[in-house]
Amino acid sequence: MSDKLTHKNILTKFAVQIKCMESNLLIDKSQDEARQGEAYASQSSSGVFQKHFYVESYGCAMNFADSEVVAAILEKNGFGGTKNIEIADLILINTCSIREKAELTIRKRLTEFRRLKQANPGVLVGVLGCMAERLKAQLLEEEKLVDLVVGPDAYRTLPDLIAEAGTGQKAVNVLLSRDETYGDIAPVRLDNNGISAFVSIMRGCNNMCSFCVVPFTRGRERSRDAFSILAECKDLFDKGFKEVVLLGQNVDSYYWSNPENNATTTFAMLLEQVAQIDPSLRVRFSTSHPKDITDEVLHIIVKYDNICKHIHLPVQSGSSRILQLMNRTYTREWYMAKIDRIRALLPTCSITSDIIAGFCTETEEDHQDTLSLLQYANYDLSYMYFYSERPGTLAERRYEDDVDLVTKKRRLQEIVDLQWTLSNESNKRDVGSIFEVLIEGNSKRNEAEWMGRNSQNKVVVFPKGKFDYKKGDYAQVKIQDFTKGTLLGELI
Ligand code: SAM
Ligand code: SF4
Repeated sequence: MSDKLTHKNILTKFAVQIKCMESNLLIDKSQDEARQGEAYASQSSSGVFQKHFYVESYGCAMNFADSEVVAAILEKNGFGGTKNIEIADLILINTCSIREKAELTIRKRLTEFRRLKQANPGVLVGVLGCMAERLKAQLLEEEKLVDLVVGPDAYRTLPDLIAEAGTGQKAVNVLLSRDETYGDIAPVRLDNNGISAFVSIMRGCNNMCSFCVVPFTRGRERSRDAFSILAECKDLFDKGFKEVVLLGQNVDSYYWSNPENNATTTFAMLLEQVAQIDPSLRVRFSTSHPKDITDEVLHIIVKYDNICKHIHLPVQSGSSRILQLMNRTYTREWYMAKIDRIRALLPTCSITSDIIAGFCTETEEDHQDTLSLLQYANYDLSYMYFYSERPGTLAERRYEDDVDLVTKKRRLQEIVDLQWTLSNESNKRDVGSIFEVLIEGNSKRNEAEWMGRNSQNKVVVFPKGKFDYKKGDYAQVKIQDFTKGTLLGELI
């Protein structure tokens, strides 16, 4: 069985952009996959620079946001971005380590750079991000063509590292920082639709979920200066963006203390301040750890129409025993109560999740608990994976990866099938409803149709008709039908 299914277009773009995806993910992430390995080039840079860099990004939204910071640092130091790898003096690959398959994809891609290096021995190849951090100098041993290895907190040193590598030395900086947030660096935006932008609000993670490599590759959690976040969001709005996505591994634990007066900013406060920039600026955020999302945050979401009614609340497992082994710090019952609370305060809110099948010691009973929790939570959408043991994690050190691959995949398939039914029912319930849709551009299939998203983050496609809408406008759309991952409507 292929370990990747094709429930095409089931995902909404924001969620798609946010998640890591490799082939042990069992739902189609067509748009997500389209972004994997995406090359960066800023529109402003063509023709201005003597030297060019090419960067491909893999993994989660944080990596894509980081590539925009890297682009800003390189542009300041004389390198212009290019999408043409053949003319690049510097080839960068921003990597993901979350599952084994992610790293294998990157290793394969590195072998493809060999031809370019042979043709032009002067070209430098650099590995950035989580895989650089996890493997450090070992990567230089294993991948001979790599010249630079740079961890996620060391991007400011890139110009020095490039100069060092230019002399024929291998250059490595994988130092993790307790305070680096790149808060003062204005990211150079990837050429995207000009409507929606990622804004990184924090880095690292303190949670130590036992399956997860992130705390080791991205270091301790730290929150970015609230003023710099607000300034970046305001600037995006002034440039015509209509949506900001506040990013962090655990956004609800955002906590910034102003060094000048010790005044503190919580996530609820930050969310409110971003929402107040302008009522026509949509605000999204991801990811929320269930233990950290508070009533205060939920009340802020209720209070502002422009804060999108969508919460990504990864459960990982429906079994309290497994949740404890995963170190998630909540039980099945506690999580269910959180779902009840969200539904009570925000009846129109969509809820999505991440689920891992086949974690260490998982029994059929545990698996049934996950399936019944899915039913209870009635998720609009989930990202589903089978467990992939990662070196150095708590789970790797403490537990045996004892669920065989066939069982992992079978359980994952059952989870995917159930989620598929739930997603379908969710779409069916939307038929007849009217949504405000932010238009992102032409529908892929038909230029006579617009594509956008509703507040719940579902993709909506509708005929342009005789109305004079443009990209970035809001339209009222009545839903009449749906396909697997798209609501189909008509302007009203
Ligand atoms: N901080 C976010 C959170 O807690 O949801 C995102 C973490 S990670 C980038 C995204 C998802 O990858 C996790 O929620 C989890 O479901 C999955 N994941 C992490 N480690 C994994 C592993 N070792 N095997 C399979 N899936 C994993
Ligand atoms: Fe990993 Fe858990 Fe942190 Fe998410 S919250 S990044 S799953 S350790």
